[in-house]
Amino acid sequence: MEAIIELSEARADQTTPADLLEAARTQLGDDVQLFLGYDFLIAFNCPTCESTDAQNIPLYGVVEKQALCPVCGTIREPQVISSFRGSEEHAHWTLAALGVPPLAILTARKNRRFLGLELTGDVSHVFDFE
Ligand SMILES: [Zn+2]
Repeated sequence: MEAIIELSEARADQTTPADLLEAARTQLGDDVQLFLGYDFLIAFNCPTCESTDAQNIPLYGVVEKQALCPVCGTIREPQVISSFRGSEEHAHWTLAALGVPPLAILTARKNRRFLGLELTGDVSHVFDFE
């Protein structure tokens, strides 16, 4: 990791991957890629009956039997996303909706340069003792 920048305005429940890409571009320039650090399951697609079933949950929370097609019983193919360039539909979802916890540090990359982006805006939100 080259550096970690603290984004005092970034919060898991408000900030999107597109926002983090914009912040990363100020440091790395264009053509930045942002990584979730895990696979996010967008949908299951059945190769047999061609049904599509939207999921929108992190893949690590999915158990094997959920992959079975409710229509025909075939094991369906997971459609996942784990990184963003900014044009993806899910780049405009909040990070929380994508399963990212408060105060997480996400990694952005351009070629061999890496940058950590911390959701520092969650500090006041998470540690609110008043
Ligand atoms: Zn099927």
